Amino acid sequence: MSYLVAALFGLLIGSFLNVCIYRLPRDQSVVWPASRCTTCGRPLAWYENIPVVSYLALRGRCRTCGERISLQYPIVELLTAAIIAGALAWYGPTPLFAVRAAFACAMLVLFVIDLQHQILPNEITLPGILVGLAASFFLEPGWRSALVGAVAGAGVLWLVGWTYERLRHQEGLGFGDVKMLGMIGAFLGWPLMLLTLVVASLAGSVVGLGLIAAQRGHLGSKLPFGSFLAIGAIVAALAGPDLVAWYASFYR
Ligand SMILES: [Zn+2]
Repeated sequence: MSYLVAALFGLLIGSFLNVCIYRLPRDQSVVWPASRCTTCGRPLAWYENIPVVSYLALRGRCRTCGERISLQYPIVELLTAAIIAGALAWYGPTPLFAVRAAFACAMLVLFVIDLQHQILPNEITLPGILVGLAASFFLEPGWRSALVGAVAGAGVLWLVGWTYERLRHQEGLGFGDVKMLGMIGAFLGWPLMLLTLVVASLAGSVVGLGLIAAQRGHLGSKLPFGSFLAIGAIVAALAGPDLVAWYASFYR
């Protein structure tokens, strides 16, 4: 029963995340005005704004202009429902559940925005660093690990980007990636921040090589590294503590 409530609550949050995903890269307010059709601009009635249900009832089209509504809307809503219910199952009804669920929602938003626009909005990453650090005073991973994670995470990507620019005379990594890994370090602590970086780099290499093999990309192709960092962070948060303990066991 509580998981059902969590999932329904997640659908509503997912609806708000869709607003963030659409408006943040366009520098629009996420609270005003109310949702409208992105093609004809007509404000949506409340019954057109019910997560997933409205999409199905409208058969994925705007009632006025008939334009297709992106499948991304119900997908993000369902994923958010899965995040909230999944985090509740994973962490139980604890303060850490709320913090990690909010973190996962932020990662979902950054994943989609970076995929679509190749930007990672400061509106998420900068408050994210502060919220992660603030929470670490009371919860896992503790403020020392969070502080080191934030500074080292941002620092290592800044150094990689700086070096790449010196060598290639073009920007390889954006400052958005720097701030995003700082945020991940603040929430997860430095060991899981490093694991995030490893998972993201591996996933990025596999996808990059796959694109080259499929002749749809080349070595200079730009991949949305923030999207890979988001995947890496979720993997690290879930499997990380076990993986880090397993790795550390070789050095005892
Ligand atoms: Zn319309």
